[in-house]
Amino acid sequence: MGYQSEGLTATPSPAGTLPLTYRGRFAPSPTGPLHLGNARTALLAWLAARSARGALVMRVEDLDPPRVRPGLEARILDELRWLGLGWDEGPDLGGGAGPYRQSERGGRYQAALDRLQQAGLAYPCFCSRAEIAAASRAPHGPADDGPRYPGTCRELTAAEVARRSGTRPPAWRLRVEPGAVCFDDAVRGPCRFEPAVATGDFVVMRADGVAAYQLAVVVDDGAMGITEVVRGDDLLPSTARQLLLYAALGLPAPRFAHVPLVVGEDGERLAKRHRALSLSELREAGVAPGAVVGLLAASCGLAPAGTRCGAEELVEGFDWDRVRPGPAQLPPALLAGLLPGG
Ligand code: GLU
Repeated sequence: MGYQSEGLTATPSPAGTLPLTYRGRFAPSPTGPLHLGNARTALLAWLAARSARGALVMRVEDLDPPRVRPGLEARILDELRWLGLGWDEGPDLGGGAGPYRQSERGGRYQAALDRLQQAGLAYPCFCSRAEIAAASRAPHGPADDGPRYPGTCRELTAAEVARRSGTRPPAWRLRVEPGAVCFDDAVRGPCRFEPAVATGDFVVMRADGVAAYQLAVVVDDGAMGITEVVRGDDLLPSTARQLLLYAALGLPAPRFAHVPLVVGEDGERLAKRHRALSLSELREAGVAPGAVVGLLAASCGLAPAGTRCGAEELVEGFDWDRVRPGPAQLPPALLAGLLPGG
Protein backbone atom coordinates (compact mmCIF):
# COMPACT_ATOMS: atom_id res chain seq x y z
CA MET A 1 0.00 0.00 0.00
CA GLY A 2 1.55 3.27 -1.00
CA TYR A 3 0.46 6.36 -2.80
CA GLN A 4 1.38 8.15 -5.93
CA SER A 5 2.11 11.69 -6.75
CA GLU A 6 4.44 12.65 -9.56
CA GLY A 7 8.02 12.14 -8.53
CA LEU A 8 7.16 11.23 -4.94
CA THR A 9 6.72 7.84 -3.39
CA ALA A 10 6.32 6.66 0.16
CA THR A 11 4.89 3.65 1.86
CA PRO A 12 2.79 4.09 5.00
CA SER A 13 2.61 0.93 7.11
CA PRO A 14 -0.41 -1.02 5.93
CA ALA A 15 -3.25 -1.38 8.42
CA GLY A 16 -2.84 -4.53 10.47
CA THR A 17 0.94 -4.73 10.31
CA LEU A 18 2.13 -2.52 13.13
CA PRO A 19 5.86 -2.13 13.59
CA LEU A 20 7.30 -3.90 16.61
CA THR A 21 7.76 -0.76 18.66
CA TYR A 22 4.56 1.20 18.66
CA ARG A 23 4.87 4.94 19.31
CA GLY A 24 1.73 7.01 19.50
CA ARG A 25 1.13 10.59 20.51
CA PHE A 26 -1.23 13.11 22.04
CA ALA A 27 -1.00 16.45 20.22
CA PRO A 28 -3.26 18.95 22.01
CA SER A 29 -3.28 22.63 21.12
CA PRO A 30 -3.43 24.82 24.25
CA THR A 31 -5.80 27.21 22.52
CA GLY A 32 -9.11 25.93 23.89
CA PRO A 33 -10.27 23.75 26.77
CA LEU A 34 -10.49 19.98 26.36
CA HIS A 35 -13.99 18.85 25.58
CA LEU A 36 -15.43 15.36 25.52
CA GLY A 37 -14.59 14.98 21.83
CA ASN A 38 -10.88 15.62 22.48
CA ALA A 39 -11.04 13.29 25.48
CA ARG A 40 -12.59 10.53 23.37
CA THR A 41 -9.80 10.82 20.78
CA ALA A 42 -7.23 10.83 23.59
CA LEU A 43 -8.79 7.71 25.15
CA LEU A 44 -8.55 5.88 21.82
CA ALA A 45 -4.95 7.03 21.22
CA TRP A 46 -4.09 5.81 24.73
CA LEU A 47 -5.84 2.46 24.25
CA ALA A 48 -4.13 1.89 20.89
CA ALA A 49 -0.71 2.53 22.43
CA ARG A 50 -1.27 0.57 25.62
CA SER A 51 -2.82 -2.42 23.89
CA ALA A 52 0.24 -2.53 21.59
CA ARG A 53 2.46 -2.21 24.70
CA GLY A 54 3.93 0.86 23.05
CA ALA A 55 4.95 4.34 24.14
CA LEU A 56 2.91 7.53 24.11
CA VAL A 57 4.40 10.94 23.47
CA MET A 58 2.79 14.16 24.70
CA ARG A 59 3.49 16.96 22.22
CA VAL A 60 2.06 20.39 22.90
CA GLU A 61 1.06 22.14 19.67
CA ASP A 62 1.60 25.76 20.68
CA LEU A 63 2.81 26.95 17.27
CA ASP A 64 0.88 30.16 17.06
CA PRO A 65 1.79 32.18 20.18
CA PRO A 66 -1.05 34.76 20.12
CA ARG A 67 -3.63 31.96 20.21
CA VAL A 68 -2.05 30.09 23.11
CA ARG A 69 -3.89 30.61 26.39
CA PRO A 70 -1.68 30.88 29.47
CA GLY A 71 -2.20 28.03 31.91
CA LEU A 72 -4.10 25.88 29.45
CA GLU A 73 -1.23 23.47 28.76
CA ALA A 74 -0.98 22.58 32.45
CA ARG A 75 -4.75 22.21 32.70
CA ILE A 76 -4.99 19.93 29.66
CA LEU A 77 -2.20 17.70 30.95
CA ASP A 78 -3.80 17.59 34.38
CA GLU A 79 -7.21 16.67 32.95
CA LEU A 80 -5.85 13.85 30.80
CA ARG A 81 -4.10 12.42 33.86
CA TRP A 82 -7.33 12.80 35.85
CA LEU A 83 -8.97 10.57 33.22
CA GLY A 84 -6.20 8.02 33.77
CA LEU A 85 -4.54 8.71 30.39
CA GLY A 86 -0.82 9.07 31.11
CA TRP A 87 2.13 9.30 28.71
CA ASP A 88 5.78 8.30 28.66
CA GLU A 89 7.51 11.36 27.22
CA GLY A 90 6.47 14.97 27.20
CA PRO A 91 7.27 18.54 28.25
CA ASP A 92 6.75 17.63 31.90
CA LEU A 93 8.60 14.26 31.78
CA GLY A 94 11.35 14.89 29.25
CA GLY A 95 12.55 12.10 26.95
CA GLY A 96 14.91 11.44 24.09
CA ALA A 97 12.79 13.04 21.35
CA GLY A 98 12.28 16.49 22.90
CA PRO A 99 11.69 19.31 23.09
CA TYR A 100 8.00 18.45 23.31
CA ARG A 101 6.54 21.90 22.69
CA GLN A 102 6.27 23.05 19.09
CA SER A 103 7.17 26.59 20.17
CA GLU A 104 10.64 25.20 20.99
CA ARG A 105 11.13 23.35 17.70
CA GLY A 106 11.27 26.24 15.22
CA GLY A 107 14.84 25.36 14.08
CA ARG A 108 13.68 21.93 12.98
CA TYR A 109 10.87 23.36 10.88
CA GLN A 110 13.27 25.84 9.27
CA ALA A 111 15.71 23.00 8.48
CA ALA A 112 12.89 21.05 6.82
CA LEU A 113 11.93 24.11 4.78
CA ASP A 114 15.58 24.49 3.71
CA ARG A 115 15.48 20.92 2.40
CA LEU A 116 12.27 21.53 0.48
CA GLN A 117 13.74 24.72 -0.99
CA GLN A 118 16.97 22.98 -2.01
CA ALA A 119 14.97 20.23 -3.71
CA GLY A 120 12.96 22.85 -5.58
CA LEU A 121 9.77 21.62 -3.93
CA ALA A 122 8.84 24.84 -2.11
CA TYR A 123 8.43 28.30 -3.59
CA PRO A 124 7.99 31.79 -2.11
CA CYS A 125 4.50 33.26 -2.08
CA PHE A 126 3.79 36.96 -1.67
CA CYS A 127 0.01 36.72 -1.66
CA SER A 128 -1.67 38.05 1.44
CA ARG A 129 -4.53 35.74 2.12
CA ALA A 130 -6.35 34.85 5.32
CA GLU A 131 -5.48 31.23 4.61
CA ILE A 132 -1.76 31.99 5.07
CA ALA A 133 -2.37 33.50 8.49
CA ALA A 134 -4.47 30.49 9.46
CA ALA A 135 -1.89 27.94 8.24
CA SER A 136 -0.41 27.35 11.70
CA ARG A 137 -3.73 26.00 12.95
CA ALA A 138 -4.87 22.47 12.18
CA PRO A 139 -7.67 22.81 9.60
CA HIS A 140 -10.79 21.29 11.14
CA GLY A 141 -12.96 21.70 8.07
CA PRO A 142 -13.02 23.08 4.52
CA ALA A 143 -13.63 26.61 5.81
CA ASP A 144 -10.28 26.51 7.62
CA ASP A 145 -8.47 25.55 4.42
CA GLY A 146 -10.04 28.23 2.31
CA PRO A 147 -10.37 27.98 -1.48
CA ARG A 148 -7.87 26.14 -3.68
CA TYR A 149 -4.73 28.22 -4.21
CA PRO A 150 -4.76 29.32 -7.86
CA GLY A 151 -0.96 29.23 -8.15
CA THR A 152 -0.48 33.00 -8.40
CA CYS A 153 3.17 32.90 -7.24
CA ARG A 154 4.09 29.46 -8.62
CA GLU A 155 6.07 30.62 -11.63
CA LEU A 156 7.59 33.91 -10.48
CA THR A 157 10.99 34.65 -12.02
CA ALA A 158 14.07 34.96 -9.79
CA ALA A 159 14.12 38.70 -10.56
CA GLU A 160 10.50 39.08 -9.51
CA VAL A 161 11.14 37.14 -6.29
CA ALA A 162 14.15 39.35 -5.52
CA ARG A 163 12.14 42.52 -6.20
CA ARG A 164 9.20 41.50 -4.02
CA SER A 165 11.40 40.15 -1.23
CA GLY A 166 12.77 43.69 -0.87
CA THR A 167 9.32 44.86 0.24
CA ARG A 168 8.33 42.01 2.54
CA PRO A 169 9.30 38.44 3.33
CA PRO A 170 7.37 35.68 1.57
CA ALA A 171 5.42 32.72 2.88
CA TRP A 172 6.46 29.33 1.42
CA ARG A 173 4.28 26.79 -0.35
CA LEU A 174 4.81 23.17 -1.31
CA ARG A 175 4.46 22.45 -5.02
CA VAL A 176 1.64 19.93 -5.31
CA GLU A 177 1.61 18.02 -8.58
CA PRO A 178 -1.58 16.45 -9.94
CA GLY A 179 -2.29 12.92 -8.75
CA ALA A 180 -4.10 10.91 -6.14
CA VAL A 181 -2.83 10.28 -2.64
CA CYS A 182 -4.17 6.95 -1.35
CA PHE A 183 -3.75 5.41 2.07
CA ASP A 184 -5.38 2.81 4.25
CA ASP A 185 -6.80 4.28 7.44
CA ALA A 186 -7.16 1.97 10.45
CA VAL A 187 -10.72 3.22 11.09
CA ARG A 188 -11.90 4.55 7.75
CA GLY A 189 -10.32 1.95 5.46
CA PRO A 190 -9.06 2.94 2.00
CA CYS A 191 -8.92 6.73 1.46
CA ARG A 192 -8.16 8.68 -1.69
CA PHE A 193 -7.57 12.43 -2.01
CA GLU A 194 -6.36 14.77 -4.71
CA PRO A 195 -4.62 17.63 -2.92
CA ALA A 196 -3.80 19.36 -6.21
CA VAL A 197 -7.53 19.68 -6.83
CA ALA A 198 -8.70 20.26 -3.24
CA THR A 199 -6.17 22.76 -1.89
CA GLY A 200 -3.45 23.12 -4.50
CA ASP A 201 0.02 24.27 -3.41
CA PHE A 202 -0.28 24.67 0.35
CA VAL A 203 1.53 26.85 2.87
CA VAL A 204 4.38 25.22 4.79
CA MET A 205 5.84 28.36 6.40
CA ARG A 206 4.23 31.71 7.08
CA ALA A 207 5.98 34.95 6.16
CA ASP A 208 6.62 35.64 9.86
CA GLY A 209 8.67 32.42 10.09
CA VAL A 210 6.01 30.42 11.97
CA ALA A 211 5.71 26.92 10.51
CA ALA A 212 2.40 25.79 9.12
CA TYR A 213 0.61 23.02 11.01
CA GLN A 214 1.10 20.64 8.05
CA LEU A 215 4.88 21.00 8.09
CA ALA A 216 5.29 21.05 11.88
CA VAL A 217 3.21 17.93 12.43
CA VAL A 218 5.14 15.93 9.81
CA VAL A 219 8.55 17.08 11.05
CA ASP A 220 7.56 16.23 14.63
CA ASP A 221 5.81 12.92 14.02
CA GLY A 222 8.81 11.92 11.87
CA ALA A 223 11.47 13.04 14.36
CA MET A 224 9.61 11.54 17.31
CA GLY A 225 9.37 8.17 15.58
CA ILE A 226 5.58 8.08 15.73
CA THR A 227 4.29 4.87 14.17
CA GLU A 228 0.56 5.56 14.41
CA VAL A 229 -1.27 8.90 14.41
CA VAL A 230 -4.67 8.81 16.11
CA ARG A 231 -6.74 11.97 15.69
CA GLY A 232 -10.17 13.31 14.78
CA ASP A 233 -11.43 12.50 11.31
CA ASP A 234 -11.86 16.17 10.45
CA LEU A 235 -8.09 16.01 9.85
CA LEU A 236 -8.44 13.22 7.27
CA PRO A 237 -7.92 15.54 4.25
CA SER A 238 -4.79 16.96 5.94
CA THR A 239 -3.28 13.46 5.91
CA ALA A 240 -2.99 13.56 2.12
CA ARG A 241 -0.96 16.78 2.32
CA GLN A 242 1.13 15.33 5.12
CA LEU A 243 1.92 12.22 3.08
CA LEU A 244 3.25 14.48 0.32
CA LEU A 245 5.49 16.13 2.91
CA TYR A 246 6.72 12.79 4.31
CA ALA A 247 7.74 11.82 0.79
CA ALA A 248 9.29 15.21 0.00
CA LEU A 249 11.35 15.08 3.20
CA GLY A 250 12.29 11.42 2.79
CA LEU A 251 10.62 10.43 6.07
CA PRO A 252 8.78 7.15 6.62
CA ALA A 253 5.07 7.81 7.07
CA PRO A 254 3.18 6.48 10.10
CA ARG A 255 -0.10 4.60 9.98
CA PHE A 256 -3.20 6.74 10.53
CA ALA A 257 -6.35 6.09 12.55
CA HIS A 258 -8.93 8.85 12.14
CA VAL A 259 -11.49 8.71 14.87
CA PRO A 260 -15.07 9.87 14.32
CA LEU A 261 -15.92 13.12 15.97
CA VAL A 262 -18.28 13.74 18.81
CA VAL A 263 -21.05 16.06 17.71
CA GLY A 264 -23.37 18.24 19.75
CA GLU A 265 -27.15 18.03 19.63
CA ASP A 266 -27.07 20.32 16.59
CA GLY A 267 -25.00 17.71 14.72
CA GLU A 268 -22.02 20.07 14.66
CA ARG A 269 -18.52 19.12 15.77
CA LEU A 270 -18.05 19.94 19.46
CA ALA A 271 -16.71 23.42 19.87
CA LYS A 272 -16.47 26.12 22.43
CA ARG A 273 -20.15 26.90 22.16
CA HIS A 274 -20.95 23.48 23.64
CA ARG A 275 -19.52 24.68 26.93
CA ALA A 276 -21.28 22.15 29.11
CA LEU A 277 -19.19 19.44 27.50
CA SER A 278 -15.80 20.73 28.66
CA LEU A 279 -13.84 18.39 30.86
CA SER A 280 -13.14 21.13 33.40
CA GLU A 281 -16.80 21.76 33.95
CA LEU A 282 -17.65 18.09 34.35
CA ARG A 283 -14.78 17.72 36.80
CA GLU A 284 -15.74 20.81 38.76
CA ALA A 285 -19.31 19.52 38.94
CA GLY A 286 -17.99 16.44 40.76
CA VAL A 287 -18.29 13.92 37.94
CA ALA A 288 -16.04 10.91 38.55
CA PRO A 289 -13.39 10.18 35.89
CA GLY A 290 -14.68 6.59 35.62
CA ALA A 291 -18.09 7.92 34.60
CA VAL A 292 -16.53 10.03 31.84
CA VAL A 293 -14.35 7.16 30.60
CA GLY A 294 -17.38 4.83 30.67
CA LEU A 295 -19.47 7.30 28.69
CA LEU A 296 -16.73 7.75 26.10
CA ALA A 297 -16.13 4.00 25.84
CA ALA A 298 -19.85 3.41 25.35
CA SER A 299 -19.97 6.09 22.65
CA CYS A 300 -17.25 4.15 20.75
CA GLY A 301 -19.02 0.83 21.15
CA LEU A 302 -16.32 -0.46 23.51
CA ALA A 303 -18.55 -0.81 26.58
CA PRO A 304 -22.29 -1.02 27.33
CA ALA A 305 -24.15 2.22 28.10
CA GLY A 306 -23.99 3.14 31.76
CA THR A 307 -20.52 1.63 32.28
CA ARG A 308 -18.20 3.24 34.81
CA CYS A 309 -14.64 2.06 34.42
CA GLY A 310 -10.99 2.97 34.42
CA ALA A 311 -9.25 3.32 31.07
CA GLU A 312 -6.95 0.39 31.90
CA GLU A 313 -9.96 -1.94 32.06
CA LEU A 314 -10.50 -1.33 28.34
CA VAL A 315 -6.97 -2.16 27.20
CA GLU A 316 -7.32 -5.90 26.83
CA GLY A 317 -8.95 -6.80 23.56
CA PHE A 318 -8.85 -3.24 22.20
CA ASP A 319 -8.92 -3.30 18.43
CA TRP A 320 -9.79 -0.68 15.83
CA ASP A 321 -12.32 -3.11 14.35
CA ARG A 322 -14.35 -2.72 17.53
CA VAL A 323 -14.56 1.07 17.30
CA ARG A 324 -17.89 2.23 15.88
CA PRO A 325 -17.06 4.30 12.79
CA GLY A 326 -19.93 6.84 12.78
CA PRO A 327 -20.02 10.23 14.55
CA ALA A 328 -20.97 9.97 18.21
CA GLN A 329 -23.60 12.18 19.75
CA LEU A 330 -23.51 12.63 23.49
CA PRO A 331 -26.96 13.92 24.35
CA PRO A 332 -27.15 16.42 27.23
CA ALA A 333 -29.66 14.14 28.99
CA LEU A 334 -27.03 11.42 29.15
CA LEU A 335 -24.46 13.89 30.38
CA ALA A 336 -26.89 15.18 32.96
CA GLY A 337 -27.04 11.61 34.27
CA LEU A 338 -23.36 11.92 35.14
CA LEU A 339 -23.86 14.85 37.43
CA PRO A 340 -24.44 14.31 41.14
CA GLY A 341 -28.18 14.11 41.71
CA GLY A 342 -28.71 13.97 37.91
N1 GLU B 1 -2.99 19.99 17.52
C1 GLU B 1 -4.04 19.62 16.62
C2 GLU B 1 -5.35 20.00 17.22
O1 GLU B 1 -5.49 19.99 18.43
C3 GLU B 1 -4.06 18.14 16.33
C4 GLU B 1 -3.11 17.82 15.27
C5 GLU B 1 -2.95 16.36 14.95
O2 GLU B 1 -3.36 15.50 15.72
O3 GLU B 1 -2.35 16.11 13.91
O4 GLU B 1 -6.24 20.34 16.50
